[in-house]
Amino acid sequence: MKFTALKLIGFKSFVDPAELRIEPGLTGIIGPNGCGKSNLLEALRWVMGATSAKSLRGSGMEDVIFSGTDARPSRDRAEVVLTVDNSDRTAPARFNDHASLEVIRRITRGAGSLYKVNGEEVRAKDVQLLFADASTGANSPALVRQGQISELIAAKPENRRRVLEEAAGVAGLRARRHESELRLKGAESNLDRLQDVIDDLE
Ligand code: ATP
Repeated sequence: MKFTALKLIGFKSFVDPAELRIEPGLTGIIGPNGCGKSNLLEALRWVMGATSAKSLRGSGMEDVIFSGTDARPSRDRAEVVLTVDNSDRTAPARFNDHASLEVIRRITRGAGSLYKVNGEEVRAKDVQLLFADASTGANSPALVRQGQISELIAAKPENRRRVLEEAAGVAGLRARRHESELRLKGAESNLDRLQDVIDDLE
């Protein structure tokens, strides 16, 4: 899966729409301290379904919305659009009609996040699985935050295993297993209740 473009509108310091084309090969981002280099990586993690505001250096998810400066008022909405090359058709079947996928996440103050893939509204989980299956995503070990290396060295073995699972592309399977286990538990408790009703009737 290749990222081909990233667009930010009102995301953190990117108050004006900014679009970056991501060409094949190595991409470097350079700029003075505080110009927004880390914000770009955070935009990537965010559009792929990041759920932890702390990992995006905020205290709540709405902190990703442009908060204003002396010269410009704050915004009520932030949006990130990630364009992904799907010409090898590796995305889940429901998205495979398209050779290019446009994934959008938008947050509006007081209304939470909304996700779209090629214009169709989808769940956060659909977007997270789309990227997890391709061995990337908000928690991808390919996206290294400042301080993350020392965190990894000090991490518990189980947390380190998670990093290897993300890299191996099995994180999506783990999420699906968890979802299936929850459904199974729900079905078991329904069966128990049904048995109670049958017992009462007998
Ligand atoms: P360094 O090289 O020092 O690591 P950087 O280029 O990675 O810096 P970032 O950390 O991405 O810079 O950007 C920090 C800037 O983004 C700060 O000026 C901060 O005020 C601004 N910023 C962060 N969140 C918001 C927000 N919600 N609204 C407006 N500006 C924001």
